[in-house]
Formats: sequence, C-alpha cells, structure tokens
Amino acid sequence: MKIRGVGRLRRAARWVRNKFTPDALILLYHRVSELPSDPQLLSVRPQYFAEHLEVLQKTCHPMPLQQFVRVTRNGNLPRRTVVVTFDDGYADNLHNAKSLLEYHEIPATVFVTTGYVGHKRELWWDELDRLLLQPGTVPETLHLSVNGRKYKWALGKASHYSKEDFERHRGWNVLTKNDPSPRQELYRSLCRLLQPLPGEERSKVLDELITRTGVDTMVRSTHRTLSLNELVEMANGRLVEVGAHTVTHSLLSALPTAVQRSEIQSSKVRLEEILSRPVTSFSYPYGSWSDYTRQTVAITRDAGFDCACSNYADTVWQGTDPFQLPRVVVRDWDGETFTQWLEGWFRG
Ligand SMILES: [Zn+2]
Repeated sequence: MKIRGVGRLRRAARWVRNKFTPDALILLYHRVSELPSDPQLLSVRPQYFAEHLEVLQKTCHPMPLQQFVRVTRNGNLPRRTVVVTFDDGYADNLHNAKSLLEYHEIPATVFVTTGYVGHKRELWWDELDRLLLQPGTVPETLHLSVNGRKYKWALGKASHYSKEDFERHRGWNVLTKNDPSPRQELYRSLCRLLQPLPGEERSKVLDELITRTGVDTMVRSTHRTLSLNELVEMANGRLVEVGAHTVTHSLLSALPTAVQRSEIQSSKVRLEEILSRPVTSFSYPYGSWSDYTRQTVAITRDAGFDCACSNYADTVWQGTDPFQLPRVVVRDWDGETFTQWLEGWFRG
C-alpha cells in the first residue's frame, strides 16, 4: 500500500539534505562472470562490468569504503561519491573483477563468507541450482525433512530435465512471476525453507537432497568460491579491502543471539588470521530490513567493526547510520543502462 504524498515528501527531504551534504552511493555486486543461467541474478558479465567502471571513473568519485565512512561522518563528501562492494566471496571476484578494478584504479570491498573459503561445496543457493535446475534425472517424488518437518514434492515428468528443458528455461530467475516447471517451483520452495536455517541444519538438508537426487557433490569451476591463497591474493595491493559476511551466510534475524554473535565474530577472526590485518567492515547476509535486527547491529558494533552494509536501496548522507549503510544492487546491465540506473539512484 502506498500513502499519497509520501514520495513527494521523501524527495523534498532529500533535496533539503542534498543542499548541505551531497548524496553518495554504495554499489552492491556479487559476481563478475558470464554464466549459462543465473537464477538469483547475481552475475554481471566482465564486459559490462568494465563498462560500469568506465562510467564510474568518468562521472563519479570512487572511494574506498573505510575512507567513505570517515568522510561521510565529517560531512565532506565530494559530489557523486561511489563505493564499489561485492558480497559472498566468489573466485571470479579475483579472476575477473580485480584486474578491471586495477585498470580503472577503482577501490572495492569484497565481503567474504568465511565458511566457504577453500570449501568443497558451492554456496547453498548454487548447490540447489546444481541439484535441481541443471539437466539430469531425479526421483519423481522427493521426500525431505527440514527442521523436523517432513515435506514431499511430486515432480512427475519434470523428474527428467533434459538439455532442451534447460535451454528453454535458462533465462528463468527468482524475480520471474511464473514457474515454468515443477523444478523451478521446488527450487523456489527450498530456497524459502533453507534460508532461515542455521548453517549446520541447512547443510544437513542439502546432504539429504544430494543422497535422494543422486547428483554428485562436485563444485563447478564456474561457481566456486575463493580458496585460501586466492583470498590472500584478492587482498594484496592497495585497492581491495576484504570484509566479513558471516561464516555460513546465515539469516541473522532468524538466529538466537549467541549464534549471531558467533557467526559475526568468527568470520572476523578467521579473516584476520588468514590476512594478518584488522578486518573492520561487515555486510549482513541478504541485508534487507527483515534480515537483521537491532540486536544484530549492536553485536556487529561490539565485535569491533567500523561499519556494516545492508541491502536496501538508498543514497548515503551524513546522517546515515554507519552500521546500516544502504546499497543499490547492480544487475547485468550494459554501460548505457547502468548510467540510467545511476542517474535514477542519484535523483532518488
Ligand atoms: Zn551474501
């Protein structure tokens, strides 16, 4: 439901605050890679990413996140300041994004899910994609227990998913309104069921799914996360900061305080061990208002971070809480489309 006039008021408020401190933007990327399918819409192809960086270099003032937080506090932000961030810790951040960032001399912060560093599994949503949305055959009826409850899905003819089926539906993603086959329906319901689970419980369900579907536990080279050495290489040089993104990519608002604290603190400690330097930036997994709580923010502050990024679209100004920095998600857009979005975000 929309209340009339609220949009106008928000725009007016932004105009007033813009008179005193110019708005700035934090961009949220996940992957730089060209993929045959991308159900979560996480990837930007390298050519487009290069075009984005060219636009940023020509029309904006790119800044490292930590410096940005300091400058924002003092109210001395240059016009059109932009920060580039990546979530999750995919290997393509090193192999496809870093050299482009270096070429354009644009700093970035990469938030890493430490439990997946050098891990032998794909991130959980990728594992679901590999098990359910890639060509292959799974049982016609699938039984699973999730968090003590038993579930049953009837796949019928969709138990066999041919290469043609894959080709036909590879453009499907979670923002698509309709699910073209029971495979997509199952993927969507399992995403919903797995997201709030603690990491260990989620892995248990995925293990059961692997057993029941009979699909291998391989990690696709296109979907792997950073190895230990790659993480060190990622942090080398002066342009890339590594930040923490929990251990198991948990929905923090669904977890008890002690588990939240452990997820947040342990990811910081682990990265500091690997990189031998302080890790002071954090980003909340999923990151929308309902994915963390006030308590989560307090835990993050107490853990010794300087700032934390959320995932709701807004600009940043002097009054923004440094522990709830809004970010705008960047999709697989060419340079021209990216420019239009950029101008829209700056206008508000
Ligand atoms: Zn994430």
